[in-house]
Amino acid sequence: MARRGANQPSVGGYNEAVVLDQIRRAHGHSRVELADATGLSAQTVSNIVQRLLDAGIVEEAGRTSSGRGKPRTTLRLVGSSRYAVGVHLDPGLITVVVLSIDGEVVARHARATPRAQDPADTVAVLIEDIQAVLSESGIDRSRIVGLGIAAPGPIDADRGIVVDPPNLLGWDRVPLRDAIAEATGLAVVLDKDVTAAAVAEKWVAAPGGAPNFAFLYLGTGLGVGLVVGDEVVRGGSGNAGEIGHIVVDPEGPSCACGLRGCIAVTCAPLPLVEEAERRGVLEADRESDDPTRVDAALTRLVHMAEDGDERARDLLQRCTVHVARALAVVSNLLDVDRIVMGGPLWDRVGPTFTEAIPPLLDEMRVARGVHPLSIAGTALGSDVGAIGAACLILDEALTPRPTSLLVPSA
Ligand SMILES: [Zn+2]
Repeated sequence: MARRGANQPSVGGYNEAVVLDQIRRAHGHSRVELADATGLSAQTVSNIVQRLLDAGIVEEAGRTSSGRGKPRTTLRLVGSSRYAVGVHLDPGLITVVVLSIDGEVVARHARATPRAQDPADTVAVLIEDIQAVLSESGIDRSRIVGLGIAAPGPIDADRGIVVDPPNLLGWDRVPLRDAIAEATGLAVVLDKDVTAAAVAEKWVAAPGGAPNFAFLYLGTGLGVGLVVGDEVVRGGSGNAGEIGHIVVDPEGPSCACGLRGCIAVTCAPLPLVEEAERRGVLEADRESDDPTRVDAALTRLVHMAEDGDERARDLLQRCTVHVARALAVVSNLLDVDRIVMGGPLWDRVGPTFTEAIPPLLDEMRVARGVHPLSIAGTALGSDVGAIGAACLILDEALTPRPTSLLVPSA
């Protein structure tokens, strides 16, 4: 879906983003084709392309001739011209990546999230990792457009604050965005992990793909990132996509919200592992509810199911049915064309979910006779949160919106 430009001098920045967006999506358009696709005049396109060439953001990639007439010079993005840093703060894992403007991960670091009592200690670790990845990458700071942070919700997007995520002990209104900006000197944006994952999907995994999709993020908790009409849906404060209190088992355990059988108390990793322990499927030998220990227990449960343990298999099947019910609510509410699944748990539950969820979901979907719904795992693996965090910056800088543009316009 090409965006249309406006032939007025006052919106040069916007038009520049329109042209850049088209070059990025089309892989090898000429100036004439850019003018056709954007509705901008040949002169306007030519001026913008010259500025982008001077800034080193695009390059001439060769000539194509189509029958008679002058051969046309095609243009493409220069991957090494601009980069963004992506930081994913997960309760179990901290991941930092450097992403080039064309979506390649050029540097990466990951470590277990420290069990710090004081959030300041975790912030210090984040800063240390960011500095290490940047110096390892050897990229000149002038080419780094900014840094994105993906954090568990709820967040206060306007103030850049991580509010009080249930799985990050001791975190209470931590001004993470400003702390990282001050330490690194970079422009920083903060978003929810599920939203970042959806942006990664839109930008890197399937650019030009379905304009309406939900990203089911499977981590310490479950959430969805939403893209509707090719725009990321954030809601009023950046907290859209909280599916944790959708009821998936009316007979299920009671939840702090007052309902019974919410997805948060039935098939998030901790309640799933606890249920396995209650039933004697897993030994109840965990020392704590620490996310890394819960994750290890869940991995054991999955391996048991794979090795043919019927009780472990039943538990996972039950969880799959619950997730399908929650996805039915999401897809009926938003009428999406596509559901993408991923996040830290995906490498374990992916095979089960990919096989079992599509037929279950199709039984519950109102629009099943109108259009199909494609369901697949993300191609980006467990780094999707960090890649998405970096994409937040690219999305902000390169998507044509009247308010955007970190790219120099002169
Ligand atoms: Zn609830």
